[in-house]
Amino acid sequence: MADKLNAVKGMNDTLPPESARWEWLEGIVREVTSRFAYCNIRTPILEHTALFVRGIGEVTDIVEKEMYSFHDRSDKYGDNDHLTLRPENTAGIVRAAIEHNMLYDGGKRLWAIGPMFRREKPQRGRFRQFHQFDVEALGFAGPDVDAELVLLASSLFKAIGLTDVRLEINSLGQPAERAQHRAQLIAHFEAHADQLDEDARRRLHSNPLRILDTKNPAMKAVVEAAPRLIDFLGAESLAHFEGLKAILDANGVAYTINPRLVRGLDYYNLSVFEFVTDRLGSQGTVCAGGRYDGLFEQLGGKPAPAVGWAMGLERVLDLVKEQGTAVPVPVPDAYAVVPDVAAMPVVLRTLQQLREAGVRVQMHAATADGLGSFKSQFKKADGSGATYALIFGADELARGELTVKALRDGTGAQVARPLADLAGWAATLQSPAPNN
Ligand code: ATP
Ligand code: MG
Repeated sequence: MADKLNAVKGMNDTLPPESARWEWLEGIVREVTSRFAYCNIRTPILEHTALFVRGIGEVTDIVEKEMYSFHDRSDKYGDNDHLTLRPENTAGIVRAAIEHNMLYDGGKRLWAIGPMFRREKPQRGRFRQFHQFDVEALGFAGPDVDAELVLLASSLFKAIGLTDVRLEINSLGQPAERAQHRAQLIAHFEAHADQLDEDARRRLHSNPLRILDTKNPAMKAVVEAAPRLIDFLGAESLAHFEGLKAILDANGVAYTINPRLVRGLDYYNLSVFEFVTDRLGSQGTVCAGGRYDGLFEQLGGKPAPAVGWAMGLERVLDLVKEQGTAVPVPVPDAYAVVPDVAAMPVVLRTLQQLREAGVRVQMHAATADGLGSFKSQFKKADGSGATYALIFGADELARGELTVKALRDGTGAQVARPLADLAGWAATLQSPAPNN
């Protein structure tokens, strides 16, 4: 036998019935984004490496060590390009907005969902291919849109039934305010250099803000004692922050201000926020975002304000499981029991008509051993979760009928239904779709 091939480490297959949980979540994503009037955008999974180097920043874990990058072969359509599997979606969406001049007639509210790739150490809540749901509001400057995005996330958590997430917010102010803070931050860390780990020492001058974001518990004390960025904000930045808080307060959205919540790059400014949970161990951030008014310029576009967030769907689904939230499992309305292969043309024609009338029907299919006994077919019908069995027995078919047998109500009641008048009874088989 040939060697067995397995999936790449840290990249998961999603199989049924687990995939039904993904479809359920994606259905809620579509529903909630449409309630907020956000439009779907789809950008390529491969982008030029330069996009992420400029759009995420050279001194970040992602660009320093996590990207899947390669030199494409040169051909007449492209010349030896350096490409990268997207590690996140914002850079690609902003690139697309610039490339297609999407903001020519005003701001755009967008959402996207899809796989992202980062070469991280695989563990619970951390994979090498994972999935994000992103929302990005492009071209809007006010704290009202920052708040709208937070409210969208809240609505989503509510629709999913997640209660164990809390919101943390902070303001990064503007670059000039951060420059003042930065000088004092470096002085603080230099004075306590013995407490810094290797990453932090390396970033002390290139990206000191990022040190506040450390996951190393040994650095907790030195980080907590660091000067707070929020104390360096001017009136305008504070007003923006107050604007966000006032809207969250008016909506009864609870939050805590976390002065250590930061983004390491210059084009991030003003609002930052994260939804976190204590129920997933150290991978507790389920949704993270903020304002990035400098990114359009950084990527060669006309300046445009922007704000967005990304949600890790594996973590959200893990939390759904952890909380024991019931997720509807789709089942067919009916299962067709077929005693004789000779009946297949009539059976399949009938099932096709039922499906076109909106009934979800599973057909009993033959294996190498044939169709199997009546009894084994009923076992399958039962296992499928269908509400009814449709029995295509020879006697029934000779009368131009089939038998509908109730499988779930304890009665086992059977009724004969005419094949010629399918429209008259098809609807009696239908139960509401699980996502409605
Ligand atoms: P973390 O601090 O957990 O590494 P991050 O700051 O790198 O997260 P972002 O780049 O802000 O994360 O991505 C947004 C969200 O995407 C995270 O909050 C998380 O839910 C999810 N996420 C990020 N990296 C992974 C991964 N490797 N596997 C699964 N989910 C991830
Ligand atoms: Mg990370």
